[in-house]
Amino acid sequence: MNRNEALEKITGAVRNPLKPVEAWKSRSGGKVVGVVSCMPPFAPEELIHAAGLLPVGIWGGDVPVSLADAKMQSFACSVARTSLELALKGVFSPCDGFVFPFCCDAFQNLSEVWKLSIDRPCFQFVFPKKVDRGSVRTYLEKELLRVQGELEAFSGQAVTAAKLRESIRLYNEHRRRLRKLDEIRARDPGFLTAVRMMEVVLSSTFLPKEEHLVLLEALLADAEGSGRTGKGRGGTADRQVRVLLTGVMPRPATVAAMLEEVGFQVLGDDLGLGSLFYSLEIPDSGNPLRDLADGYLAYPPCSTLHNPAEQRSASLIRRVRAVGAEGLLIFATKFCEPEFFDYPYLKEDLEQAGVPVLLLETELGPGEPGQIRTRLEAFLETVRGKRNG
Ligand code: SF4
Repeated sequence: MNRNEALEKITGAVRNPLKPVEAWKSRSGGKVVGVVSCMPPFAPEELIHAAGLLPVGIWGGDVPVSLADAKMQSFACSVARTSLELALKGVFSPCDGFVFPFCCDAFQNLSEVWKLSIDRPCFQFVFPKKVDRGSVRTYLEKELLRVQGELEAFSGQAVTAAKLRESIRLYNEHRRRLRKLDEIRARDPGFLTAVRMMEVVLSSTFLPKEEHLVLLEALLADAEGSGRTGKGRGGTADRQVRVLLTGVMPRPATVAAMLEEVGFQVLGDDLGLGSLFYSLEIPDSGNPLRDLADGYLAYPPCSTLHNPAEQRSASLIRRVRAVGAEGLLIFATKFCEPEFFDYPYLKEDLEQAGVPVLLLETELGPGEPGQIRTRLEAFLETVRGKRNG
């Protein structure tokens, strides 16, 4: 498979995620579990996979909200509201059940509404919010064991240590390949635009991991074959401004597409639907459930996780410097409490470190994003001005 064929499959999966899901279902006869995801998806996907189930990401969509308005407050974020809208319209009918990792209040409320509205089993996974307590590892291991029991009963398959270890290895390998693509993008941003990278990550939550691995392999082989893995390839044109992205997700896709159109080069990200998602490396110490707990507890800092040992701003400043970015774009979904609570601290710390910051409030839905292009252009000029002294 070559690069174009791989990208075509990736775009196809993003445009019609249910097609590969239905194909997997009819091929395997297995059950599908919708993972209602956001920042980053604190979902025990390895466990779901080891139970013989197919985990499929649910990230909302660009649809108008009507049915969900009767069930959720209008000031809930669009990720929660459009996910519920799609569920109420029956779009997720191939899903036999749903997993809700509690990443924020909006999703916690959503899971309760979902349980009452959608006649399918719902599994809740309560990830700790504060990860520096001594008891947290024991708690998480027990929580994983509890969810494992529920998934086993649902699928009718036991999750043995050997099966779980196999799933962990598969997921680790998948994330390693995504990180490798990220490294190539940091050196050569033209290799994958912001939209392409978002599609690569998004499609990985819809397709079976085994299939997505093949697509990543094709992209990596193309990079290798065309010499794009070398250092310093594809420098920044004078007028372009190098940025790092953080926040929830650069959606809708029209916003992500604007970045390069306006004149930014995206060198990497720290997004929920991005590198936060594939930063995990689950250890291999012999007890797979404990390894899962240890791996998840090492998630990098984000707005939905409190880890006093590693401040998010310090981690972002380090990454900005490591990739040579000139500014930071924060994508916050409208009404996203975790991101908006974090923003003043991030802005202060980053600007003190000399990193210009732009907050972009986005919303999933069918409309055109309002003033975003103008704000991006103004920010671009500010950074260029700073560059020129
Ligand atoms: S956008 Fe924010 S509020 Fe909405 S689900 Fe994601 S983390 Fe929660």
